[in-house]
Amino acid sequence: MIVVMKTNARKEHVSAIIKRVESAGCKVHPIIGAERTVIDVIGDGTVIDKRQIVRMKGVEHVMPITKPYKAASREFKPQDTVIEVGGVTIGGKDLVVMAGPCSVEGRTQLIELAHACKEAGAHILRGGAYKPRTSPYSFQGLGEEGLRYLAEAREATGMPIITEVMDPGLVPLVCDYADILQVGTRNMQNYSLLNAVGRSQKPVLLKRSMIGTTKEWLMCAEYILSHGNSQVMLCERGIRANETETRNTFDISAIPVIKQLSHLPIIADPSHATGMWEYVGATAKAAVAAGADGLIIEVHQQPDRAWSDGSQSLKPERFARLVKEMRAVAQAVGRDIQTDDQSGYFNGTGLANKPFNQPLKDRPVANP
Ligand code: PEP
Ligand code: MN
Repeated sequence: MIVVMKTNARKEHVSAIIKRVESAGCKVHPIIGAERTVIDVIGDGTVIDKRQIVRMKGVEHVMPITKPYKAASREFKPQDTVIEVGGVTIGGKDLVVMAGPCSVEGRTQLIELAHACKEAGAHILRGGAYKPRTSPYSFQGLGEEGLRYLAEAREATGMPIITEVMDPGLVPLVCDYADILQVGTRNMQNYSLLNAVGRSQKPVLLKRSMIGTTKEWLMCAEYILSHGNSQVMLCERGIRANETETRNTFDISAIPVIKQLSHLPIIADPSHATGMWEYVGATAKAAVAAGADGLIIEVHQQPDRAWSDGSQSLKPERFARLVKEMRAVAQAVGRDIQTDDQSGYFNGTGLANKPFNQPLKDRPVANP
């Protein structure tokens, strides 16, 4: 059961509800939103007379919630959540495109690529500074140096930045630089991290665990939401199945499933889902057709020299063509890809027709 308070409800009204509920042996979990407080009643709600609660001061209405996740459920909030980040809208009618390298490898690499992604039609720059690698001997990311390059790339292009945070202790530092915090597949159920990003009040992209069910994923979103951080988006990035031709198996049905069960925006990651650039385009277009609110796609100037995930990274010119194709698919299903007409930067045609062959100057050629 959820008790939704009126927008003008006072603290003492909330305290009275909490006292009443606790005296019936139930626990409460107040969710203090920007506009109103919602009290999540945990336990056997049947022992509480709902008619009495409705009549208490400050109460708007009382709702039964049948799902184990509450704040993440559509029952709780029927209208779609829309998140605004640096002039970009996530979860609205038009789709958002996040693009950039798997790892930030250097200043020149990132800034060149940020311009190329933006010219191709991307709205948000992705890039990992802290990398969750399968092997401890693989490149682990540039750390804070990488965050500084991301902030510089934002200055240069005006694109907000998204980057992964793996350690609860690093959330404040990453928040100093990033516009969106990414929680990776391996950390979906890292509850200390979920609590830390929840407390940060920054927008969070929560990737689905490669072995996670939809219910587990939404329960993890609930952790973040339970701190009053309502700016959560979900990301389907492929799950483990018995197929070995692709890195993961893209669960396309997760998109309509999430749309039905939750109000949170759903973003598709065709790069990690497939692990091979050849399959990224088809998977991305399928995600658009299935109703995704956005895409996150890995792009690199020289994928064969990338320090991580080169095999699934698109070259900028191919990415530019893909954005055009995704736009056509979005329009076919009554949506569009957002355009950034005000800045005068985006023209949507440049890179699609010319190769991007500038050499990289600030990094060694070998993949460490
Ligand atoms: C990434 O985005 O580079 C990444 C490591 O993603 P995932 O957590 O989905 O593997
Ligand atoms: Mn990657």
